Amino acid sequence: MGVIEVGEGREATVGHLTVRRTLPRRGRRTVGAWCFADHMGPADVEEGGGPDIGPHPHMGLQTVTWLLDGQVLHKDTLGSEQVITPGQLNLMTAGHAVAHAEESTGHYRGTLEGIQLWIALPEATRHGEAAFEHHAELPRIEHDGAVATVLIGQHGGLASAARHDTELVGVDLDLHGPTTLPLRPDFEHALISLRGSVAVEGEKLTPGRIAYLGTGRDELGIEVAEDSRLMLLGGVPFDEPLLMWWNFVARSREEIDAAYASWRDQDDRFGRVASRLPLIPAAAPFWQ
Ligand code: MN
Repeated sequence: MGVIEVGEGREATVGHLTVRRTLPRRGRRTVGAWCFADHMGPADVEEGGGPDIGPHPHMGLQTVTWLLDGQVLHKDTLGSEQVITPGQLNLMTAGHAVAHAEESTGHYRGTLEGIQLWIALPEATRHGEAAFEHHAELPRIEHDGAVATVLIGQHGGLASAARHDTELVGVDLDLHGPTTLPLRPDFEHALISLRGSVAVEGEKLTPGRIAYLGTGRDELGIEVAEDSRLMLLGGVPFDEPLLMWWNFVARSREEIDAAYASWRDQDDRFGRVASRLPLIPAAAPFWQ
């Protein structure tokens, strides 16, 4: 049996939403190149309400947005304007610089729930151009008790068309009964619980918890106590030293200082988002 470490996410507030942050955590900064995971909601959204996360910058990462319920309007400095609904993937590659806003669509009322993930970009592409992809259709595969949707990478012989710059995988699991997942032994993996209750090797996983599973597994058995949703993340262990501050993924304080100054001064680096929401001010790095 491989390693299993179960941890509890911590609560934070993003825009108007409460999130449970399971990555990064002390002692576990990354899973493959996955370096950030916020499970947002479920929250009741009134008409005109929603995430309302105003324009803010990113560098050195990709953002993966995946909804279980509700809808969000993505806008960015590339001119993208994209509504996302459950079952669809928004994937933004920051490269050297991008900014985006996540707004309400204005007419949705009901429940909003989803997960936002970041993927650290490798040295080869982290200084590159920004890009945005929307995937309305993704490959789905049925295991015994599960419907697996492949957001990124390959799983069960199916490949997502979404861009990835390192070897990794991200899969939504909709579980109705016990299931065994195929895994790549050269990947490390983690499971993040979003709904319901499952058990892996006797460890209970409920919303807000993450189970880190290490490398060396070619399959994983999951016991399902009730209908459940989980995210399976995996990838080749990321061996570049990351420095994360606020919305930036970098390698040095100098890089963070430069990005912070560009956003604070609103110079030309990040561009403009056509959003009705106010800009989110940069947090000054603690070392300044
Ligand atoms: Mn963002």
